[in-house]
Amino acid sequence: MLTIPAQCVAESRIAELDFNNIEFGKIFSDHMLVADYKDNEWQSPQILPYGNMTMSPATSALHYGQSIFEGMKAYKDANGDILLFRPLENFRRLNKSGERMCMPAITEDIFMKGLEQLLRLDAAWVPPTAGCALYIRPFMFATDDFIGVRPSASYRFTIFTCPVGAYYGQPLKVAIEPDYVRSAEGGAGFAKAAGNYGAALLPARKMQERGYHQLIWTDAKEHKYIEESGTMNLMFVIDGKLITPPVSTTILAGITRDSVLQLAKDLGYTVEERKVSIDELVEAHKAGKLQEAFGTGTAATIAQIATIHYNGEDMDLPAVEDREISNHISTELDKIKTGETPDTHNWVHRIRL
Ligand SMILES: *Cc1c(COP(=O)(O)O)cnc(C)c1O
Repeated sequence: MLTIPAQCVAESRIAELDFNNIEFGKIFSDHMLVADYKDNEWQSPQILPYGNMTMSPATSALHYGQSIFEGMKAYKDANGDILLFRPLENFRRLNKSGERMCMPAITEDIFMKGLEQLLRLDAAWVPPTAGCALYIRPFMFATDDFIGVRPSASYRFTIFTCPVGAYYGQPLKVAIEPDYVRSAEGGAGFAKAAGNYGAALLPARKMQERGYHQLIWTDAKEHKYIEESGTMNLMFVIDGKLITPPVSTTILAGITRDSVLQLAKDLGYTVEERKVSIDELVEAHKAGKLQEAFGTGTAATIAQIATIHYNGEDMDLPAVEDREISNHISTELDKIKTGETPDTHNWVHRIRL
């Protein structure tokens, strides 16, 4: 078993944190994990005080975008154990993203043991409060200082964490994007690669200026089929069936998406993974059969959609309280993540302190 050398902070910054009023993404836990790749292998990881990194202006990730990330959450259960939700899936997905971006695979040992030791050290930062969690950001970027377009020979893998408050998101107003494209077949849309998110900012901001929280991406070829939204996969309930677009090279394979589909099947709902056209949504809405729409992702687990805009019209959906399927699954999933209900799928990775 790998034991990672840790250089600990002299004094924790935890007193700066108000657990009753956590601002998202602003306060970072005391430590971070760092591992460097050079000479064709991962060097021994280290745990260091969270802090700035120095780098050359020629650092290749900044110029050519070899940079990938993950996002996951840790919770505290009633005994104070730390619970991670399906972390191996994040590990596997990071390596899929890395493969597409021509980056080396991180080892399971560095990812999992690094994560575990980092969380043990910063356990006090995992909020005990209901609804709150410790957000975990593993990422990897190219570190060669070389100005030439080629895969870097050196990389840095890092994990840092930050406490996040409960997600009291109001139901979203979203608009179907008629022009811009996030991802095309054969591209890298399935990867959590930094550039995908940079390129999505302008279209998203334009939709926000028109009064919508988020946009819904459609396929690059015809703008006819629904893809996903922001950092969420999308699901619809039409005529009592849970329907979601299949994952492909253009859609990111969300771990929440997969978990929601599994739970829906467990609970006896009909699930269909197939293309969903804009026309189908419009028709279903007209017929009064578009009962639910929501996004799935680590941030909110399930984010309800109140309104879908398309082509000059707002389609308003039934009240959130009346959404049987998503509310049922959302409650079950939260109970599994926080250890309140038996974990029959072995999704929870428990760290006993
Ligand atoms: C991260 C992400 C998701 C959701 O994935 P989860 O594993 O459920 O958090 C969906 N779409 C995109 C584009 C994402 O980046």
